[in-house]
Amino acid sequence: MERYVTLRWRLTFAFVLVVLVPMLVGLLMVARTLPDAVQARQKAGVISATRLVGAVLQDYCDRAKTAAEAAGRAATAAGPADARAAAASLVSRGLADGIRVVGASDKIVAASGRVPAQPEDCGGEPSTGAAGPYLSAVVAFSTPQGRSAGSAVATFDASGKVLRRLQQAIGDADVVLVGSTGQVVAGTGTFTPQVIRDSFSDPPGTRRFGLVSSYLPASPSQAYGVIVLEPAAKGPALLVDGGAVVAIAVLLAIAIGVVSARATTQPLEELGDAAARIASGDLSTVIEVRSKDEVGRLAVAFNAMTDDLRGYVGQLEASRDELQSGLARLGDTLSSTHDLDRILNVVLESAMASTRASGGMVLLLTTSRDELVLAASRGVDVPLDLRLKVGDGVSGRVALSGDAVRGRVGDEVGELRPARGEPGATSLIAVPLKSSGTVIGVLDLYGSALPGGFDDNDLATIRTFASQATVAVDNVLLHEEAQRLSITDGLTGLWNYRYFTMTVGKEIERAARFGRPLALLMLDLDHFKDVNDTFGHQRGDAVLVELAGRIRGEVRDVDTVARYGGEEIVVVLPETDKAGAAMLAERICDAIARKPFGEPGAPPVHLTVSAGGAVFPVHGLAASVLLARADEALYTAKRAGRNTWRISSGASAPPASSVQLPD
Ligand code: GH3
Ligand code: MG
Ligand code: MG
Repeated sequence: MERYVTLRWRLTFAFVLVVLVPMLVGLLMVARTLPDAVQARQKAGVISATRLVGAVLQDYCDRAKTAAEAAGRAATAAGPADARAAAASLVSRGLADGIRVVGASDKIVAASGRVPAQPEDCGGEPSTGAAGPYLSAVVAFSTPQGRSAGSAVATFDASGKVLRRLQQAIGDADVVLVGSTGQVVAGTGTFTPQVIRDSFSDPPGTRRFGLVSSYLPASPSQAYGVIVLEPAAKGPALLVDGGAVVAIAVLLAIAIGVVSARATTQPLEELGDAAARIASGDLSTVIEVRSKDEVGRLAVAFNAMTDDLRGYVGQLEASRDELQSGLARLGDTLSSTHDLDRILNVVLESAMASTRASGGMVLLLTTSRDELVLAASRGVDVPLDLRLKVGDGVSGRVALSGDAVRGRVGDEVGELRPARGEPGATSLIAVPLKSSGTVIGVLDLYGSALPGGFDDNDLATIRTFASQATVAVDNVLLHEEAQRLSITDGLTGLWNYRYFTMTVGKEIERAARFGRPLALLMLDLDHFKDVNDTFGHQRGDAVLVELAGRIRGEVRDVDTVARYGGEEIVVVLPETDKAGAAMLAERICDAIARKPFGEPGAPPVHLTVSAGGAVFPVHGLAASVLLARADEALYTAKRAGRNTWRISSGASAPPASSVQLPD
């Protein structure tokens, strides 16, 4: 089986591609830019976090300074008791973790909370951190007279509450406070000395050991250096998540693709199935139109096409039936009749029906083969006595060439020029009727009712009808010849005895009905035996042929001359009475005796003939009676010396009930 990718799968593939390609491109771009962006943002965040921590440290320094000043003022203005109370109040209110006031003699005047023994002022040199994790402000104060009165120290514990606040200020990152030489003073998280060392010396925002670090050195009022550390952001992890998303999207896209491709191709598959049913001959197939979209329009067009097809098939079947019935009728006619007129008319009718022609005619060649005469016509305006010279007009040329023609009849260039009497200004198909290769006539069809006129199929059809017509004409001619032979005498060409008996009965009947006379003449050559004896039978035959010719020359067309037997001849003479019969008998005797019978190169033979006549109804009413009377009269003439004639002298016999023929 041939392998192929179905439309459904191609559509699915296209859907999936359309979804996936932009997604993958986007993902690729994100994968390329995201890590850098994330890192840059983290770097900036860590740097600003160090600055924030620096600022908070400065804030604590300022607060320590304010607390120290307040304690100092209390000591100078009031006295030691008040200074103690003030220090305790400041610590208890959380304005410092520890306060110590020292008098002029270095004697501690007041103390509260924890204060390192050697506090470093946060506004002075950066702290080494050697004094512990303390953030202190040292304020010297003097008497109103300007003498030194001692100093006050206020302290925050940088490893406790302060550190927590610092971390809160920067969120999740860790913060480490370092002294001026890099030693850790306090910090959240636990980091190796190596990490701290590197962070201390690396530029701000450096990534190392999976961490991003930034260092802000100490400054006036910011006692300690600040290091902020944060785990490096994981850019690639995003990509892993992205891959999972892509996988889900691919599956989703395939699912949607399959469903929508199925929805798209389903109606097409139905159309395809319907088309296959139509192709297999089921023209009753009607496709359900479910939508107005392209597929819907296709279905509508399909239904219209099937409708048309049904119409065409119907027409085809009708014309096939017409052709079949035409052929059947033609076959019946051909086999049942020898009536040439009827056969030619049926052939013409069938040929016209099968080609949808509006008219047609059949012309047959005369025996002299130089003229065509009209034998049958239908639906054309032609004279009934139409005769065309061979070579004249369309039909004449077809008869001359023996080739069929097809085209338009008219006087324009490229048209078939008609002769006078031939139909013009119409489409035509003309085929010769050929019998054993010889043209015997022409079949013409005019004015096809179908658009475009006659076509090659019509020509082929008409050739079939033409050959049928030819067979029919041949058959009829053959039949006519056989019939002619059956009623004529082979030697003389006169009617034979059989034909005479058929004719005489009919003629007597007619004469009786119309009350008209009718005569019979019997003729017999005198001493004919002698001719045979002297010159031989062959010469005798030639004499008989000449005798027939001479008698035919004396009678009318309506008279019937038949060879009765041997050298006896009978003539039936309608509308002839006794006088007429006598006159003809005299004329015939004279025509025979007047000149000798002869043929070139042979001696002439002088012959005479005797005749006897009988007349209806004077000498008889039946053919047999009339014949007997004529025979009697003939012998009377013979006895009278020959070369003469006698008309019967007998009276009419009683009327016969029916005409009797001689045996
Ligand atoms: P009659 O004057 O008495 O009629 O004398 P006839 O010799 O003609 O006598 P009859 O009529 O009896 O003779 C008939 C002869 O005609 C006999 C036969 O030799 C000849 N005959 C008849 N039929 C044919 C024929 O078909 N061809 C030839 N050559 N002779 C024929
Ligand atoms: Mg005889
Ligand atoms: Mg004779």
